[in-house]
Amino acid sequence: MANQINAFEMAQAQFDHVAELLKLDKQVREILRWPLREYHFRIPVRMDDGTLRVFEGFRVQHNDARGPNKGGIRFHPAESFDTVRALATWMTWKCGVADIPLGGGKGGIVVDPATLSTGEKERLCRGYIQVLWKNIGPRQDIPAPDVGTTPQMMGWMMDEYSKLVGEYTPGVITGKPVGGGGSLGRTEATGFGVIFHTREAIKHLKLDPTKCTASIQGFGNVAQYASIGFIEKLGGKVISVACYDRNDKTSYTFTKNDGIDPRFLQTITDQYGTIDKEKAKANGYIIEDSDAWISKDVDVLIPAALEGQINADSVKKISSKVKILAEAANGPTTLEADEYLKDKPVFIIPDFLCNSGGVTCSYFEQVQNDMNFYWSKEEVLSKLDDKMTSAFASVLDMSIKEKVTMRDAAYMVSIDRVVKAMQLRGWI
Ligand code: NAD
Repeated sequence: MANQINAFEMAQAQFDHVAELLKLDKQVREILRWPLREYHFRIPVRMDDGTLRVFEGFRVQHNDARGPNKGGIRFHPAESFDTVRALATWMTWKCGVADIPLGGGKGGIVVDPATLSTGEKERLCRGYIQVLWKNIGPRQDIPAPDVGTTPQMMGWMMDEYSKLVGEYTPGVITGKPVGGGGSLGRTEATGFGVIFHTREAIKHLKLDPTKCTASIQGFGNVAQYASIGFIEKLGGKVISVACYDRNDKTSYTFTKNDGIDPRFLQTITDQYGTIDKEKAKANGYIIEDSDAWISKDVDVLIPAALEGQINADSVKKISSKVKILAEAANGPTTLEADEYLKDKPVFIIPDFLCNSGGVTCSYFEQVQNDMNFYWSKEEVLSKLDDKMTSAFASVLDMSIKEKVTMRDAAYMVSIDRVVKAMQLRGWI
């Protein structure tokens, strides 16, 4: 519980730091430190055995000055109001830095979805919408999948909302399955977005991408497409990926010094991002311990697994050859590690800029739903590239102009945009 409370305190502390740099007015700070609206409710669900169970649910809308709130719904047994508040706040900054016309939102239910039958999950999803439908919508707040929720659940929620409002409304929720209102390119979007940012960082540092090597933590959705993109779009070489092994309950690094083949690895990886060790070994991969990925002599390190992986201890293992740290995961670098890296010549692409390809593609999904006209995958990915390239340029310009880190610059660009929108709307 203490950690969960800290998440919101951390989000507020990060904001306070940048508000100081921007010399923001005290009252404006007071608006942005807190979510504008919060919903806390109970959802009664009839279980398969006939009993009634009541679930606790949340939806937080942090700030919608730039457009409807946007953010996932998490099903997690340790969900708390403060975690949801923090995540909603970070969504405002992520949408702002990517320059998409959306605000920040997040939702959750205190539940372990693995303990529910399919029917119970469906009734819980529909129950969430029955409570909340008047407060969400394509022009108010657009949920999406997140930890513990799936495209199928989004399909049920969209259907329930459409029934309640009396018309088919696919734009109320994104992350829907392709064919059920989803967008092509969503699967690749976050990982390829990471690579578009990495390409811009490589250009800025005047490196030759075809001579660049990378080591990646994770081999789930984001890491798979980040490795494919690094090789196929930039011409670089990925020498290691790491993943958690659910059977052994430990993680390993999979290394091939002449370059891994991510498309082959995908064929021996399960839906949770666990690579089959035996098959990898048989194909020339060296299996190393969990931390090996971080100490590789590579140009680019991409943590794409979990939060807090680069911490006070592990940061010291980073090789002096590393030039770029592309934070694909959310919150992969702790405050202590970030402080340590400030004195090192490592160019950091901060998480909420680096992984903003996902929410940007969700925005494209909603635009396509609104038009009822769907783009090809190439069109989606090319629009994504444009958005990521210009977001990176705005942050880099700010960082150079104000002589601040890329992380502070990303916050400054985003907060500045939200404040301008509030001014234009006459809120402040
Ligand atoms: P995922 O569940 O598909 O994959 C996670 C991967 O990390 C798996 O390969 C897993 O084995 C590995 N992993 C877990 N613990 C590990 C450990 N201790 N050591 C090494 N590997 C470990 O998740 P994902 O969707 O790829 O998301 C990865 C990160 O990116 C998360 O922080 C997520 O919040 C963030 N993110 C994802 C998206 C998205 O669109 N999927 C968007 C923005 C941010």
